Amino acid sequence: MKTIKDFDLNSKRVLIRVDFNVPIKDGIITDDNRIRESLETINYAINQGAKVILFSHLGRVKEAADLAKNDLLPVSKRLSELLGKEVTFVNKTRGEELEATIQSMNNGDIVLVQNTRYEDLEGKKESSNDEELGKYWASLGDIFINDAFGTSHRAHASNVGIASHLPSGIGFLVLKELNNMLPVITNPIHPFTVILGGSKVSDKIGVIENLIDKCDYLLIGGGMAYTFLKAKGINVGKSIVEDDYIDFAKEMLAKTDKIILPVDNVVSDSLESETCHVTEEISNDEMGLDIGPKTIELFRKYILMSKTIVWNGPVGVFENKLYQNGTKSICEMFNSTQTVIIGGGDSASAVINLGYKDRVTHISTGGGASLELLEGKELPGISIIGE
Ligand code: AMP
Repeated sequence: MKTIKDFDLNSKRVLIRVDFNVPIKDGIITDDNRIRESLETINYAINQGAKVILFSHLGRVKEAADLAKNDLLPVSKRLSELLGKEVTFVNKTRGEELEATIQSMNNGDIVLVQNTRYEDLEGKKESSNDEELGKYWASLGDIFINDAFGTSHRAHASNVGIASHLPSGIGFLVLKELNNMLPVITNPIHPFTVILGGSKVSDKIGVIENLIDKCDYLLIGGGMAYTFLKAKGINVGKSIVEDDYIDFAKEMLAKTDKIILPVDNVVSDSLESETCHVTEEISNDEMGLDIGPKTIELFRKYILMSKTIVWNGPVGVFENKLYQNGTKSICEMFNSTQTVIIGGGDSASAVINLGYKDRVTHISTGGGASLELLEGKELPGISIIGE
């Protein structure tokens, strides 16, 4: 697969699709990690003498009121601070102003185009990969680089659309994601353990189906464990359960003995309650909100013997201090001889926010995209990039 390093970028107009979909509250960026993650590719391009034109989405644009909420201007300012360099922000996604700004760029200059999803307001042009839009954006550049891993599982005009019309490659961030995740999925070093948690079984079915034959153990915690426990006939009280997936859980449990489930739980009578206790048997008026100490020890046995670990989904309601012990304890079990891959989304925030970023090999920047990779699916934003 072509990467940014395979192109002569000097004096070229290089369109880079980045993922600047950052949380913004009252005009302030509350987590600029995604902007930081894009710097390597942007800096490389400007150092090679490229004219860099950046595209990103931010949030969703369904109605006119969403435009102001999802304005990329604060991102442009933050990017400029992080790069120590001026970034020209064009508050348009097409038209004369954008074209003239690009026309007047010098080598090493950076332009950030307004939120690509502004094009969704009329006719969902960005999200439906409108042919005319992809072709138009491609006409603004000479080379296209996809460095937005987080949106690579979607075929949008700003990735697949542009890539269909220009010589294309991937940037350093996407390269790092693929280099870390693909070998683990295709050819893991054994013993290979998958840890799944989070609220829903339905979100993780594809991952379970793709990895169950490849892994040695599948540790299940979090809300999704209760659908499996119920499938075994165990009382789970008021715990979160997806009744529609009990048959799937039964089928998996009958098919394999690789699945390891919680043997005790931290329970409470409600999510809002400030008291909790540990139990092996959940009563009807209780719900399981974290794995208990015996389960932590059980999981430890499998985690310590593993060479490769893939983890997606926290094993408890980690946002609440009362229920983060399970997720924290798992973070503390990893050591530097293991390859530990954390899927994006909530598991990534859990590991980062609880302070264990340095304990793991790779934390994916894409929630949905990393799930689809783990499901063994092709990502359209990446498969469109030529050999
Ligand atoms: P997901 O997006 O499916 O990975 O789910 C992540 C969410 O699952 C987090 O917000 C957790 O609070 C939640 N979660 C984890 N364990 C439980 C549980 N036992 N009951 C309810 N929600 C849970």
